[in-house]
Amino acid sequence: MIRTKYIAGNWKMHLTKRRASTLARDIVAAADSSDSAVKVAVFPTFVHLDHVRRNIRNSNVVLGAQNCYGKKEGAFTGEISPYMLRDMGVQVVMLGHSERRHIFGETDKMIFEKVKIALRAKIDVMLCVGETLEERQAGQTFEVLVRQLKVLKAVKPTQSSRITIAYEPVWAIGTGETATPQIAQEAHAECRRLVGKVLGDDAAQHIQILYGGSMKGSNAAELLSQPDVDGGLVGGASLTGDDFSPIINAARALS
Ligand code: PEP
Repeated sequence: MIRTKYIAGNWKMHLTKRRASTLARDIVAAADSSDSAVKVAVFPTFVHLDHVRRNIRNSNVVLGAQNCYGKKEGAFTGEISPYMLRDMGVQVVMLGHSERRHIFGETDKMIFEKVKIALRAKIDVMLCVGETLEERQAGQTFEVLVRQLKVLKAVKPTQSSRITIAYEPVWAIGTGETATPQIAQEAHAECRRLVGKVLGDDAAQHIQILYGGSMKGSNAAELLSQPDVDGGLVGGASLTGDDFSPIINAARALS
């Protein structure tokens, strides 16, 4: 099964309006020359979404948001509805990032509601999963993936093509420590098997499963060449064109 490689930049709580706009233009330049062989997405902060949208207009770069609330509207001060994101031109929302789970206490139940309403609002979903260091050391990695991927029960069969999974071992995020290609492949294969159990074999074969955790230009090719690694969700190395472009290029070379 040939799946298009997908490289996504998670800008987290970084950049100014000006730097976000410049970075967006740099990424358009790197991504557009890649024709359609590689899908590229950026996830700026909410307040930079509109500036970035203007700078990626007329390109293939996809606009993503880092989170949304699990309700359509109401008295939820400080929260943002996926319908509002849709209205802003957002195409995909990242849900269940480990920082949301571990710093902000998001549970699988909350993530389930968010997935459901985001899809209903016609926004695609990038669902992040992954174990902590303690869970890996206790041999619980697959158990964690089973639990976190149960959230896929929020997805109707007709919506399965609008889901992407990001496997992000928490111990590798922002630490400079990367999963070995073997560890990544093993976890991705398990994610694909679990997707099959919930959404069926066809969905499992088509779904793109991205690796996240200190991916950079120097390790991207090795990770991306694993059979079940369909792309990368990149944090630190997505914040400059010079760091992010080599990752796009590595994906292109494997396409
Ligand atoms: C992330 O936050 O999704 C991530 C993978 O970060 P980093 O690349 O910095 O580890």
